Amino acid sequence: MPVRLRITLLFTAIVFTILGLVCSAVFYFIHTNRLQNAKTRLTNRAITTGRLLSQSAIFNPELIQKIDSSTAMSFKHKSVQAYNYLNKKVYSFSDRANDTISVSPQQLDDARVKKSIFFSINNKDVVAYHYTDENNRIVIVASGFDEDGKRILRQLSYFLVLSFIGGSIIAFISGFIFSKKLLQPVRKIADEVNEISAQNLTRRIATSSSRDEWNHLSNTLNQLLNRLQESFQMQQRFIANASHEISTPLTSISSQLEVSLQRERSAEEYRSVMNSIHQDVRHMSKLTQTLLEFAKASGSAGGIEINQLRIDEILLRLPAEIAKLNNNYSVLLSFGELPEEEENLVIYGNEELLFTAIKNIVVNACKYSETMEAKVHLSVINTNVEIIIEDKGKGIPEPELKSIFEPFYRVDDSRTTEGFGLGLSLANRIIKLHKGNISVLSSPGDGTKFSLTFTSGKKSYF
Ligand code: ADP
Repeated sequence: MPVRLRITLLFTAIVFTILGLVCSAVFYFIHTNRLQNAKTRLTNRAITTGRLLSQSAIFNPELIQKIDSSTAMSFKHKSVQAYNYLNKKVYSFSDRANDTISVSPQQLDDARVKKSIFFSINNKDVVAYHYTDENNRIVIVASGFDEDGKRILRQLSYFLVLSFIGGSIIAFISGFIFSKKLLQPVRKIADEVNEISAQNLTRRIATSSSRDEWNHLSNTLNQLLNRLQESFQMQQRFIANASHEISTPLTSISSQLEVSLQRERSAEEYRSVMNSIHQDVRHMSKLTQTLLEFAKASGSAGGIEINQLRIDEILLRLPAEIAKLNNNYSVLLSFGELPEEEENLVIYGNEELLFTAIKNIVVNACKYSETMEAKVHLSVINTNVEIIIEDKGKGIPEPELKSIFEPFYRVDDSRTTEGFGLGLSLANRIIKLHKGNISVLSSPGDGTKFSLTFTSGKKSYF
């Protein structure tokens, strides 16, 4: 059901209920008031007649009837009857001839027991009152048609029904208009969001200075669009850079083949071209390997294999693996204070990814320093694991520090060194995936210090 209709119906239902309760309460109050009024007046009339009848020495029945007929009372078709203790009718008076009320002996007995009973017969209100004094014990039945009271009640009920129906219709219409007004901003926001696509990601939803929920929603959506635009642009940059990196060796291979195929070459020349092509192919293969690792580390942690890892064991793999890459590279491992409980050395994660991240930083330390030496230090305090990777190389200029974790970013004077600019950004992603942190301190000429921190013994974040 549309929200607009839901709000309208809810609003109408509330007004409907309130109006219904108020109208019923008003009707009930006026109705009981009229009955009470009728009862009092008929009882008074019965008492008066009872008194007159008990003084039979002064008043005879004809005289009492005269008094009854001349007594002003707003009831129409009045009648008064009196019954003695043998249920014999001893007195009768009515406005219209033969318009008497027939009461049963049971009702007369009831009146005797309860002193007075009130009921209705043929639209007339009736009171049966037990009048007693030292001379008499009679039941007086006084009845009449309360024309004024019933007319007022009828008019009131018409008025209440009309107000109830009118009020409900007004509530429905105003609820419909009100919900339209209330939901208008949502429709506007939806329309604006609909117009935003990958082609115009710079567009934003109009906001105002008001502090209402709609403005908050617009601001939240704008923030989401900011993040989307940022990641979209990052992705575009990444694709452009990756294509460029792949196309460079491909162009080189293609042009080398073209030149060498232009005429007959010596075996030596062919070997030299093939060697060069082989180098380009290896470069491309390394790049695609790195891109695959990048894709792996860019996804969610859900898709990767998670194990318990001893962080010191990962570091112990470094010297041999680094030497495999380049014989001149060396790693100096040192361990600070290590915890007695083994579990404080354990972190949960993917061993190969984590090793790749640390190795990338260590390779850089060797690659960008003349000594080709990296110092790796591990310390674990409680559950805080810290790995420091230090070198005494050329360092990184301050303005470059914020960019070195971006994919394909290389500091200008590093372009002569082999690399794709992906090592640090890959390391950063892997460390973030393991809920770790990476920071860097560097000053040109003095070397660079990377600090990686993790929390040990925590599996909950995977
Ligand atoms: P690559 O090493 O392939 O260029 P990285 O992403 O590993 O890419 O590093 C990005 C840039 O950061 C490098 O080009 C280099 O200029 C700089 N850098 C990283 N580590 C060091 C370091 N230990 N010393 C000096 N510069 C570094």
